[in-house]
Amino acid sequence: MANNEDIFKKIISHAKEYGFVFPSSEIYDGLSAVYDYGQYGVELKNNIKNYWWRAMVQYHENIVGIDSAIFMHPTIWKASGHVDAFSDPMIDNKDSKKRYRADVLVEDYAAKIEDKINKEVEKAAKRFGESFDEAQFRATNQRVVEYQAKITDALARLNKNLTDNDLAAVKQLIEDLEIVCPVSGTKNWTEVRQFNLMFNTQMGSLSEDTNTIYLRPETAQGIFVNFLNVQKTGRMKIPFGIAQIGKAFRNEIVARQFIFRMREFEQMEMQFFVRPGTELDWFEKWKAERLAWHHSLGLGPENYRFHPHDKLAHYANAACDIEFKFPFGFKELEGIHSRTDFDLSAHQQFSGKKLQYFDPELNESYVPYVIETSIGLDRTFLAILSSAYTEEKLEDGSERVVLRIPPVLAPIKAAILPLIKKDGLPEKAREIMDALKFDYLCQYDEKDAIGRRYRRQDAIGTPYCITVDHQTLEDNTVTIRERDSMLQERVSIDAVSEIIRKKIAVKL
Ligand code: ATP
Repeated sequence: MANNEDIFKKIISHAKEYGFVFPSSEIYDGLSAVYDYGQYGVELKNNIKNYWWRAMVQYHENIVGIDSAIFMHPTIWKASGHVDAFSDPMIDNKDSKKRYRADVLVEDYAAKIEDKINKEVEKAAKRFGESFDEAQFRATNQRVVEYQAKITDALARLNKNLTDNDLAAVKQLIEDLEIVCPVSGTKNWTEVRQFNLMFNTQMGSLSEDTNTIYLRPETAQGIFVNFLNVQKTGRMKIPFGIAQIGKAFRNEIVARQFIFRMREFEQMEMQFFVRPGTELDWFEKWKAERLAWHHSLGLGPENYRFHPHDKLAHYANAACDIEFKFPFGFKELEGIHSRTDFDLSAHQQFSGKKLQYFDPELNESYVPYVIETSIGLDRTFLAILSSAYTEEKLEDGSERVVLRIPPVLAPIKAAILPLIKKDGLPEKAREIMDALKFDYLCQYDEKDAIGRRYRRQDAIGTPYCITVDHQTLEDNTVTIRERDSMLQERVSIDAVSEIIRKKIAVKL
C-alpha cells in the first residue's frame, strides 16, 4: 500500500505527464516555486474560476466583479500594513544552510506529536473494539494527555511570542523544543529575523524619478481602493460585495508542496461591505455559504474542516480558515476574515479621500465593515486534482488511473472516438464532433485501440467517451461510456448533447 507521500509524488508526475502542470522554465532547470499550467491544466483552472464566479457574482444579485491592475500606488501597501507587517519569521540552519519559517518549524513539531497521538488512538481502537470511547481515551490516557499538553504549550508560546514580536523568544522556543534541521540533523540555528514577503520593482525609466512599486501580495486592496467607484457607478446598496480573480505574488521563504505554496499564484477574493455591528453575523453566514460551495464539488465533506484563528491579523476581529485534507494533511484552502473597517479607514487616512457610504435607512454616513472570503485558485486546483486521482484495479486484472474530476470542472467534456479508422466511421464521428464542439470542449481521437483511447481519457478526467461504430451508420446511435462506472449505453446521437449538459449542470 503506497503511503501519502508516494501518492503525492505520483499526482505531481501525472500532472506533468498529462499536460496539467509543468515546472516553470523547465529547460533551464526550473524556477523555484513557479509553475506553468498546460493544455488541460488551464482548462481545469478556467472552469474553477468560472464555477466560483457564477456562484459569487452571477448567483448573488448584490455582488459584482472587477479586474484591477496588479501595479498599484505604493502608498496603498503602507496603508494596508503590508510594508511594515507582511513578513514571516525566518531562521537558517548554519550547517545545511537551509532556510525555514520559524513558526512552521514549531507547527511541524506539533504535527509530529499529533501523529503520535493518532497512532495511540488507532492502537487502542483496535484493542478495545466496539466498546472504544475515543473522547474518553483522549481525555484520560496518560501518554496522550502528556503529548497533548506538549502541543498546547508549544503553540501557545509560539502565538504569544509572535504577537509580542519577540523573535529572540521564538528562537528560544525552537531550542527548548530541541527541534533539529531535517537536512543536517543539527540544532545549529541562526537568530530569527523578519522577512518581508512583497516583491518590488521600479516603475518608469531610470533617468526619471524612479519609484519603488510592489507586485500585489493580495487582490483585496484593488477592491478596497475601488469601493466608491463601484458603489456609485453600480448604485450598490449595503450590504453588497465586490469580487475579483487575479494574480498575487509573495516571496515565500520556503516554497514547497508543489502548487500549494507558490511565489506567483492566483486568488479568488470577495469583499462584502456591511453595516458596522452586523459583521459577525455576516461572518457566520459567509463561513456557511463558502463551505457549502466546497461541498457542492462533491469531493466529500469529510475532507473539509473549519480552523478558527488563534492569532488574529492586525485588521481582523474574527477569522477562520477552511482547511482541506491534502495528501500532506489538513491545510488552509480558503480564509474568511472579518476585516472590520481597517482597510477603508486606512485608505481614507492615507489618501485624504472620504471612503464612506450614506445609508438611507439610517440617514447617516459611515465607513462600512468588511467580510472577506479569499480562496487560492491553485490550492483549489490541487485539492481537486489530488482527490480526483485514483488508481484502480479492474475485474479483468488490468489497472487504470482515472481522474474523478467533478464533471462541471473537467477539462474535456467528451471524447469522440470512431471504433476504426475506415468504413466512413471517422467522417461520422467528425460530424458529431462538429455538432458538439461549440458548446463543449471535446476531443476527437482515432489513434490506437479503443481501450487505450478510453484510458487516455480516464487519465485526464473526461466524463464521457462517445464511440462511433458500424451500427451508428445504420441507426444513428452511439455508445456513451461514463468515466467512473465505465458503463456503456447505446443512445441516439440526438440525445448526446443533453446527456452531457445534465452531467455538468451546476448544483449549488
Ligand atoms: P498561508 O498561511 O498558507 O501562508 P495565508 O493565510 O497567508 O496562507 P491568505 O493571505 O489568507 O493566506 O490568502 C488567501 C488564500 O490565498 C489562501 O487561503 C491560499 O489558498 C492562497 N494562498 C496564499 N498564499 C499562497 C501561495 N504562496 N501559493 C498559493 N496559494 C496561496
